Amino acid sequence: TPQIVWLRRDLRLADQPAFAAAAAAGPVIPVYVLDDAGAGSRQLGGASRWWLHHSLAALEVQLQKQGMRLILRRGKAAEELVRLADETGAGAIHAIRHYEPWWKNAEEELSGQLELCLQDGNYLLPPGSVRTGAGKLYRIYTPFARAAMQMLPQRDPIEAPPLTSPQNWPQSDRLTDWHLLPSKPDWAAGFAAEWTAGEDAAHAQLDAFVQHVASYDDQRNLPAIDGTSRLSPHLHWGEISPTQVWKALEGRDGTGVQTYRSELLWRDFAQNVICQFRDYDHESYRDRFKQFPWRQIEQDSAAAADLRAWQEGRTGYPIVDAGMRQLWQIGWMHNRVRMITASFLIKHLLIDWTIGERWFWDTLVDADFGNNSVNWQWVAGTGVDTSLFTRIMAPLSQSDKFDAGEYIRQWVPELADLPDEQIHDPDGKCRPSAYPDRRIPHREARERALAAYRTMREKA
Ligand code: FAD
Repeated sequence: TPQIVWLRRDLRLADQPAFAAAAAAGPVIPVYVLDDAGAGSRQLGGASRWWLHHSLAALEVQLQKQGMRLILRRGKAAEELVRLADETGAGAIHAIRHYEPWWKNAEEELSGQLELCLQDGNYLLPPGSVRTGAGKLYRIYTPFARAAMQMLPQRDPIEAPPLTSPQNWPQSDRLTDWHLLPSKPDWAAGFAAEWTAGEDAAHAQLDAFVQHVASYDDQRNLPAIDGTSRLSPHLHWGEISPTQVWKALEGRDGTGVQTYRSELLWRDFAQNVICQFRDYDHESYRDRFKQFPWRQIEQDSAAAADLRAWQEGRTGYPIVDAGMRQLWQIGWMHNRVRMITASFLIKHLLIDWTIGERWFWDTLVDADFGNNSVNWQWVAGTGVDTSLFTRIMAPLSQSDKFDAGEYIRQWVPELADLPDEQIHDPDGKCRPSAYPDRRIPHREARERALAAYRTMREKA
């Protein structure tokens, strides 16, 4: 009997245990269900839709090479899968386990109705499997990583299995009818120049990175340099598995590889957090932050204007503006600058971190429920493992420390002609007229943030 492979963000053929299990049991029907209703307030953002379109298109081509098809359906995931199983007489549904709350819901709905075979496969270790001596899940990254390292590598990647097609293919939507790509205005023109989605592209990216992983530790904080792997969208969409990435680094030593492995483990750690706290994307873990006097963008037009300036890269702080424009133009931002821009929104502009998280959710091609919320709460100082709210990043010194000016020149062209000594801080006479004034001076912002923090402590 045919076996359904339910694809979510695991859009690959190799090291994909759901494909392997289905192929061993019979002919395979791969399906992707676009379920906007099921995702509720977590519908895919615009940048994610762009990536999804291209990733599905790439997978369709790969499958066609083997005489297979990719079935596309739209609707409530559980209902569509039950319908598809009825139409095809499928014996079971095979899928990789995911931990986002809306997918846990869909899995629960399905499990009473059909045989659902779930496998782990998108993380180095199955989320929930790394435990303290007392059998508890970790809440702090460092001991989590120490324990995880002892357990790794847990397995070798598995080969892509040969697939057999069913006797009859069920009906499928056409990808282009889903309109996942922007029409007018085409805000994604810069994405296409930067990214190629799909499994082959993910492996090409990994191969290229492995050549310079030795310098990862030295270069990963410099946004002007291509020193990081840029695998995040490929990993998020599951076009490559972290086990494959881990394997590719085998036999290489040095601080570059070690630091890279520990960054990959942050991804596992974030899942470990969302397994414990389903509402982590919209609720500060530290309760007292529920009393924090954030500026209210609905009632305060100056705060709303500040938010818009941040989103559009017009804050008057070059490093912040460079990051926000990079995000808008290519759907990705360097990690160091994600920290600077997030901190700026939360602490300099006093805008609730959940609003920034939402903006990243809509604009990142790697927007990830776990990674995004864990990192936003880390920067805000509200998280389970967290930095301190009172450690306020100074954008000018961050800029000076991590960018020689090239990153700013690339993304903020109106500053391109400024000499190095003015590029980070183009205030006063040297500021080109096309470049905006600072929304708020750093010292004033810092004092306002610390005063707001004191107010919260008095209330809590
Ligand atoms: P590399 O440095 O090459 O790292 C390799 C991989 O390790 C990454 O692809 C990623 O999968 C993982 N990784 C690295 N750093 C982290 C981290 N801090 N947390 C979790 N995983 C990490 N990452 C996302 O994938 N999706 C998000 O939505 C996301 N939102 C973020 C929001 C904020 C405010 C911050 C500060 C960070 C966020 N990150 C997010 C983490 C990190 O910035 C990106 O994973 C990284 O910049 C991706 O680039 P890279 O693939 O070149 O990373």
